[in-house]
Amino acid sequence: MEFKEIKSIIEENAPQGKVTGIDVEGPKVVIYTDDIGFFIDNNKEVRNLAMLLRKRIIMRSNPAQLLDPENAKKIIGQIIPPEANITDIRFDPVFEEVYIEAEKLGLVIGRYGATSDEITKKTGWTPKLVRKSPIESDTIRTVRKTLYENSDDRQKILKAVGKKIYRKPAAECDWIRVTPLGGAQEVGRSAFLLQTPESNVLIDCGINAAASGAGRYPDFRAAKLAMDQLDAVIISHAHLDHCGFLPYLFKYGYNGPVYCTEPTRDLMTLLQLDAVEIGTRENNELPFSPKDIREVVMHTIPLEYGEVADITPDMRLTLYNAGHILGSSMVHLHIGEGLHNLVYTGDLKFGDTRLLEAANSDFPRAETMIIESTYGGRYDIQPHRRESETELMNTIKETVKNKGKVLIPVFSVGRSQEVMMVLENFCRRKELEVPVYLDGMIWEATAIHTHYPEHLKRYVKHRVFNGQNPFLAEAFENVKGRNRMEIIESKDPCVILATSGMMTGGPSVEYFKQLAADKNNSLVFVGYQAEGSLGRRLQNGLKTIPVDDNGRTKTINVEMAVKTIEGFSGHADRRQLLGYAKKIHPKPKRALVVHGEAKNAISLASTFYEMFQIESSAPRNLDTIRLM
Ligand SMILES: [Zn+2]
Ligand SMILES: [Zn+2]
Repeated sequence: MEFKEIKSIIEENAPQGKVTGIDVEGPKVVIYTDDIGFFIDNNKEVRNLAMLLRKRIIMRSNPAQLLDPENAKKIIGQIIPPEANITDIRFDPVFEEVYIEAEKLGLVIGRYGATSDEITKKTGWTPKLVRKSPIESDTIRTVRKTLYENSDDRQKILKAVGKKIYRKPAAECDWIRVTPLGGAQEVGRSAFLLQTPESNVLIDCGINAAASGAGRYPDFRAAKLAMDQLDAVIISHAHLDHCGFLPYLFKYGYNGPVYCTEPTRDLMTLLQLDAVEIGTRENNELPFSPKDIREVVMHTIPLEYGEVADITPDMRLTLYNAGHILGSSMVHLHIGEGLHNLVYTGDLKFGDTRLLEAANSDFPRAETMIIESTYGGRYDIQPHRRESETELMNTIKETVKNKGKVLIPVFSVGRSQEVMMVLENFCRRKELEVPVYLDGMIWEATAIHTHYPEHLKRYVKHRVFNGQNPFLAEAFENVKGRNRMEIIESKDPCVILATSGMMTGGPSVEYFKQLAADKNNSLVFVGYQAEGSLGRRLQNGLKTIPVDDNGRTKTINVEMAVKTIEGFSGHADRRQLLGYAKKIHPKPKRALVVHGEAKNAISLASTFYEMFQIESSAPRNLDTIRLM
């Protein structure tokens, strides 16, 4: 839909004389009015316009009618009951929003948004409600500050994006094709270029942390695409194999939007900043800097699950829960006004975890599915969760009995919180009574989880809301830098959760070097270990490792027990992937199997065909597949 069409629909259908201006900010339509009270009392008018346009609408007062912040603050203080415990109020005149941070958000919102509406009616400002989290997150504070302090620039970006989305299309959509630039027949550097005659959209933009050289980044050179030809980037979730290369695009001239959920924006900022820091420290520099990460934040347009957004003249995007990590999404794209529908699963979990609900499997339409296959191999069947939890607890008990230490390398985002939930459960039952140290970015990632309890599993959400936040259990202790040696040298047994999850660097490797030579210690893998990573080599029985000792190389013998406990993965195993293909509704006609080692992807693709008669293949990187 072109902007002029949007305008004429509003002008023809809005009540006479009530609309004074129309604009677009990203996919959203902004309507200005002299009478905001009218639209609040008659909200069916707004709903009607939204339905005709099939777009989200933001209603705003004319700036002249905004109450000055000082008086508005007084009125807000009178409207919101003191029990809400307001901790901060800030005004953003550009977007006419007032950020209200409070401990008890329910009281701020009021019944059916009544309190919120009253604030807008009396002050002109639109409240943005922010929950005061029990654990502060530096990342979220920085992200919000960046957006708040640069709202002028932010609005300019959104307006430019909106103009581009609602441009006059130059070509009719008569073909659709997709090209993996990375992440096909491999795990890492996921990037899928989706093209029509009108649009170029990139889904995910990852790095392969375990690879060096050419295999580390997606192959943009082969795509022959100038950065300014790219319309939009969609990020499925915050793991670096899906978003680690995104800042690079901004460094080299990309200036468009990034779509993802709000938790993904915050988590990926944390992980990208961390990756830059580790890269610099370990002489494996990434080709971008924190400045480029800031650009990502400024250009990110967060979407809620189920929210439909136009992203180009011929593509409409909706995100759905993928069950993999906080904020993880499946990407649904409706292309060319009914021509074709694509579901990209990203990384998915179609089963029980302690942290998140299982992946969504219901879509309005779906002709092509691009699905992951990390554990898609013929023998990739994970044990049931309960068995895995018992096995983990037995391993810990055994090690503790021998006065040893248990090292669990984990991704800071996802597996950490999942394993924390498991350990917290054992702590409550008094089965686990040694300290659990968290090292690396785990605590900060956990803080981000507590900011978005509504994204967590119902049971966890309730506990967080009722002051029984499982992440705040007594056993957990956040390790800050120099305490690491104290923990290693202490004679007391303990559990250590440390990043990185595949031992490609970071504290998990530091602990390992110190703990490896003692047979009473245990190393437990609970997550995926990529080919080439130290973790994978240890899983495969590596017995000695060279370490740097004051400039000299010495060899450490690996005496500690090395164990892999399957079943904690955030990925669906083969059974769940087949279950997903069976359950997904409507049934796609075609499946492209990606994000798995070649043999796994190929095996899963052929089974899809045998079992469900879905035309399936496991494309290689740079294979272009025509969808239409
Ligand atoms: Zn992932
Ligand atoms: Zn992944």
